[in-house]
Amino acid sequence: MGLKEKLEKRMGIGIAEATNETVYYGLLSLVKELCKEKEENKGKKKIYYISAEFLIGKLLSNNLINLGIYDEVKELLRVNGKDLSAIEEIEPEPSLGNGGLGRLAACFIDSIATLGLPGAGIGLNYHFGLFQQVFRDNKQREEKNPWIEKESWLTDTGIHFPVKFADFTLQSTLYNIDVPGYDSGVNQLHLFDVDTLDESLVKDGIDFDQKNIAKNLTLFLYPDDSTREGQLLRIYQQYFMVSNGAQLILKEMDEKGYDVKKMYEHVVIQINDTHPSMVIPELIRLLTERGIDFDEAAAIVSKTCAYTNHTILAEALEKWPIRDLEEVVPHLLPIIRKLDEKVKKKYKDEKLAIIDKNDRVHMAHMDIHFGFSVNGVAALHTEILKKSELKAFYDIYPEKFNNKTNGITFRRWLMHCNPQLAALITERIGDGWKKDAAQLEKLLEDKDNDAVLERLIAIKDENKKVLKQYLKETQNIDIPVDSVYDIQVKRLHEYKRQQMNALYLIYKYKQIKAGKLPKRPITMIFGAKAAPAYTLAKDIIHLILCMQELIEKDNDVNPYLRVVMVENYNVTKAEKLIPACDISEQISLASKEASGTGNMKFMLNGAVTLGTMDGANVEIHDLVGKDNIFIFGKSSDEVIRLYDTAGYCSREYYDNDSLIEELVDFIISKQLIQIGDPSNLCRLYKELISKDWFMTLLDVREYIETKETMLDAYENRKEWAKKMFVNTAKAGFFSSDRTIEEYNQDIWKL
Ligand SMILES: *Cc1c(COP(=O)(O)O)cnc(C)c1O
Repeated sequence: MGLKEKLEKRMGIGIAEATNETVYYGLLSLVKELCKEKEENKGKKKIYYISAEFLIGKLLSNNLINLGIYDEVKELLRVNGKDLSAIEEIEPEPSLGNGGLGRLAACFIDSIATLGLPGAGIGLNYHFGLFQQVFRDNKQREEKNPWIEKESWLTDTGIHFPVKFADFTLQSTLYNIDVPGYDSGVNQLHLFDVDTLDESLVKDGIDFDQKNIAKNLTLFLYPDDSTREGQLLRIYQQYFMVSNGAQLILKEMDEKGYDVKKMYEHVVIQINDTHPSMVIPELIRLLTERGIDFDEAAAIVSKTCAYTNHTILAEALEKWPIRDLEEVVPHLLPIIRKLDEKVKKKYKDEKLAIIDKNDRVHMAHMDIHFGFSVNGVAALHTEILKKSELKAFYDIYPEKFNNKTNGITFRRWLMHCNPQLAALITERIGDGWKKDAAQLEKLLEDKDNDAVLERLIAIKDENKKVLKQYLKETQNIDIPVDSVYDIQVKRLHEYKRQQMNALYLIYKYKQIKAGKLPKRPITMIFGAKAAPAYTLAKDIIHLILCMQELIEKDNDVNPYLRVVMVENYNVTKAEKLIPACDISEQISLASKEASGTGNMKFMLNGAVTLGTMDGANVEIHDLVGKDNIFIFGKSSDEVIRLYDTAGYCSREYYDNDSLIEELVDFIISKQLIQIGDPSNLCRLYKELISKDWFMTLLDVREYIETKETMLDAYENRKEWAKKMFVNTAKAGFFSSDRTIEEYNQDIWKL
């Protein structure tokens, strides 16, 4: 049977007669069937990637690409009067992740499957995901993001495990999502859930009764933890995830007849940030239940677990109070205490302790002592871990530390989101790059080929038109296609410095008001969710939305400058924004962005980076050379020194630089106060001049100057096209296939 017959048999109707909905569900079921028919990736040793987040995005197109039937299906639909992209619209996007870390996990499971490695993802099946962002009164509101329908990518496995808490036991259900590799076998993403979940607990917004664990456990990713109940709920979630994961791993070992004492020969567990850290004591507990003595169990687990650090921000390194763990998982505490004793017996340095003087358990410390590998996610980040943040650990375990610069899957972030560019590349260098991204460098032979450069510009212009249309339809904003598209999309956090970009926006607005018109219109696009309890982040969103309204209403300005804050930034939106971008904003305070992966997606799609020497920007800079990236700002060494010496005072920048004063004052200007909420705007203003923890004002002047230089450079279209071209050609290093190969060679050894 051909694809057509298979699909029509499922739908019970011809493609031409079916609705888009029917076609979508037909394809969903067909793709699941095709995945079942594919070989499972097998081997003697298997990687389990445990992560609280998997920001997988929509799966239909990606799966069609990986199964090698995308073009065939698209054509089949077309001849029957159907449009695949319209059918994609029907698929709901799960928000099982927050940002980069979750998207990384999704790219990694794609690459693990593509490389044919035996592996699985382990996580939770949040019914309402993170949250859905809506704008009202120029502010963010949170709503639930339901995505599980009667027919979905989830398959109920019928597998259940008991998970024991202090006063009760919950029965889990395991759901699987197929992860077909590109031209390769299939792996699974395992998502655990509870059958007792009660979605009706969530009424308005994202509030719910945080006490009823059996009913609320998997409602949301990162439920509000500003209360103790919320904090306990996070521990319930984390333990539920890792206990299920550990039980599944042992079950699979048993089924294969492996000796659990040799677990590390068959299993490697990658702990993605500290959320899954309790897998270490949990596995030790399960092994001791099987009669293995404590020390041996600890040694086995230590040889099995590897930890990835994602951040040096203190607030993100989890430290759970003992009494909270006692309340949720009392059976783990004796184990954690014993591990802590082992450490304290050997090392007197308090910085190395698992349990600190305030009775808090440092999850990362447990990972480092009782795992065999610690990796950072970009070269600079790993160096900072070794030199400062985790220096005490590096001194005692230098052999555990290694770097794995992040990557992205080119299937989703080029082949799917930018098919025209992918086709041009294939035309120039053949399609070897799809499996070996380093081959993109071959493109450089065409660097001075005017015809190719012109086509590159034409593709970018076409993508810009498509985005313009999309923004018109979704947010009713009309942006000029001949403008420069300057885009900053990523979670909202002070260290990422959207507020600095907003100050540029104010600068440009005032310039235009003063008659200094830009050579070409500028479109500034933002997209970002703020954590629901992060007031300052929400104030920054408010400022941007107020500027958007101000400019929309000002006909002196809006022919030259437009602002769009894209609502509910997610993977689907990223796929539309990135191919259309000219200027990629990667402006974090140096030393604070561990890697970034957005920067890689933009680069691959021919955007030019405007950034600080932070995270993977450093590696992008080294690859493309200084002529093909725009760098500004203080270095990470300088920033670290400023923190160490308390040497930064934002007020001084405000007082001593009249431009900075003027821009910051505009936040509480009459114009903005009329549009916005004075309390939010004043709070942001005060924060900037009195604290500014992430040093916006330190770099803002150089930022503005560099962006102006960049806009001038854009006017030389041919030179700019070369920069675009070099960025794409040099992006091969950032394929997650390369990253996963390195994980496998240095850590997993599958
Ligand atoms: C890639 C991606 C991110 C990460 O972006 P950064 O700029 O690296 O922080 C966040 N959200 C989504 C939806 C993404 O696709």
